[in-house]
Amino acid sequence: MQVYFKENGLADFVSGNGVGWIEINRNLKKYPYAYSKTLEHEISHSKSNGVFDIWLEIKQFIDLKLIKQLFLFTITHPKSWNQFSPISKTIKGNYSLNFFIMLVMVMVLMFVGAMVYGVI
Ligand SMILES: [Zn+2]
Repeated sequence: MQVYFKENGLADFVSGNGVGWIEINRNLKKYPYAYSKTLEHEISHSKSNGVFDIWLEIKQFIDLKLIKQLFLFTITHPKSWNQFSPISKTIKGNYSLNFFIMLVMVMVLMFVGAMVYGVI
């Protein structure tokens, strides 16, 4: 698996035209635990052929050590914030969609909508 380092975002598994690679923010190496866990996470994505795997994402949210390091990383590295955009540009210049972020956005919109219309 080819791993490319970048200066922004966190990490992504990108696939297209039969090739897949991992892009990871080089500054994440300052947090060895988060770095290895994130790399492991992206490798798991590659094994599921890039198919959206909700369990992989949930596993990250229950790892408090990982959450803490990623939180510290994101507040000290503002360039990582573009990870939370639903569309991002890969190092090879094409665009990738983040389905997890899209799902979270849809859930937030549904929640806000339900509150506005008094359902909850
Ligand atoms: Zn993921």
